[in-house]
Amino acid sequence: MLRLIKHLAVICAILLTCLASYGDDDVVLIRDSEIEDVLIDILNPILDVAGVSRKSVKIYVLGSKTVNAFATFDRTVFICAGLLFKAEKVEHIVGVLSHEIGHIACEHLIRHIGMAERSKILSGALMLLGIGAGMMAGSPDLVMGGVLGGIAMGTNTFLYHSRAEEEAADNKAMEFMQKLGLSSRGLLEITEIFALSARLNIGEKGLPNTHPDIEERVNYLRSNVDRYKQQTTRSGKIPDGIEERYKRIKVKLWAYSAPIEKVLAKYPKNDDSMETLYARAIALNRRGDFNGSITCINILISRFPKDPYLAETKAQILYENSRIAEAVMLYRRLVAMKKDDVLLNVTFANALVKSGDIASLNEAEKVLHNVLIKDRTELLAWRLLSIIYGRRNEYGESALMLAESALLRENKNEAIAQAKRAIKYGLKSPGQRQRAEYIAQVKTSNRKSKKPSSTDKNNVLSLTAAKL
Ligand SMILES: [Zn+2]
Repeated sequence: MLRLIKHLAVICAILLTCLASYGDDDVVLIRDSEIEDVLIDILNPILDVAGVSRKSVKIYVLGSKTVNAFATFDRTVFICAGLLFKAEKVEHIVGVLSHEIGHIACEHLIRHIGMAERSKILSGALMLLGIGAGMMAGSPDLVMGGVLGGIAMGTNTFLYHSRAEEEAADNKAMEFMQKLGLSSRGLLEITEIFALSARLNIGEKGLPNTHPDIEERVNYLRSNVDRYKQQTTRSGKIPDGIEERYKRIKVKLWAYSAPIEKVLAKYPKNDDSMETLYARAIALNRRGDFNGSITCINILISRFPKDPYLAETKAQILYENSRIAEAVMLYRRLVAMKKDDVLLNVTFANALVKSGDIASLNEAEKVLHNVLIKDRTELLAWRLLSIIYGRRNEYGESALMLAESALLRENKNEAIAQAKRAIKYGLKSPGQRQRAEYIAQVKTSNRKSKKPSSTDKNNVLSLTAAKL
């Protein structure tokens, strides 16, 4: 399911699936298993040759037209949709990601800024990730303005690497690409594209679009790219078929984001290619043509019955057209195939909660507890659990889930208030009571006087800022 998570000035909490609705001032986080899986499959071989742990780096797509990518805090790489649209081949994306991982491998921490600014950037990024869950859970209280302020300000003001660091990251990127058996010309080409877009000032408010040193980077790459021996064959580390998959996620992203009529004109009815049917299934659903949409996706599924992403798209179409029982059935089959896909499991649980009967709520509860074992930071899982407990009149447990969610978003006041509510209503499990009591005593401020907690410290130490 492609989820769109909007940075808001508007107080509303809805699940958006259409990118086209975002305005120039909005920055959205796009969550989609297929898109993220492709990017992770491109990223992982780079991490391997860089000697960076796969588990330590996360990657997300921002629904921004800006041609850019950057790593913010705690080894999280953000890549803008604008860059994905501009990147013509996989080598371009490998080049971009190699550069970002180059910064991480070189431990280019932000040395020029103070702790306060670091915290600001860190909390901006954390809230950005948190908002996704809040939006999905339909919770207006999670919605905050200025979420991306830290990142945007940071990128223009604080996230500055020296020229030497940029060169080092580019050298690392060329080295990684050589190890992968790829020509580092891909990096040069995408940097030229990036420089051109910066000259044309293509971008959005709220995200960086200018880099004073980009021309210097292009010149540096032009004169150094040939130092790295050109390879004619890949090392085999980049998965086979990645080009086709990459092309498909571009079509998907575009079908969700471009004006509907434009998508339907580019992918006409009389063409039955994979790309066209995929794009039409998405665009027709956006237009409210359920039958047309489901016909396209069914044709694709009959051709590729084992493709989980096609089935997931169908499940989303069913879900969005209130065919919840059918969507649930499909999601259940999918999660059996992709047990470790946290995003998919949460989406499944969301559909179960929507169906509303007790058996579905119980099943969703189990799914969500398993999700949280894998990833405690999945905010939507906490929110959905809160809804489930609320429906069962287990108000203490429901409030505790809200407290956990608030704590993750660093909203300590709300966390404390919810923990106190949980204690007041009562909790059956001694472990949960203990947890509520712990959260109720979390200190809210006086940061200046206390040492950073181990979490804060780790985050600050691993804070890496890299711009393309
Ligand atoms: Zn850089």
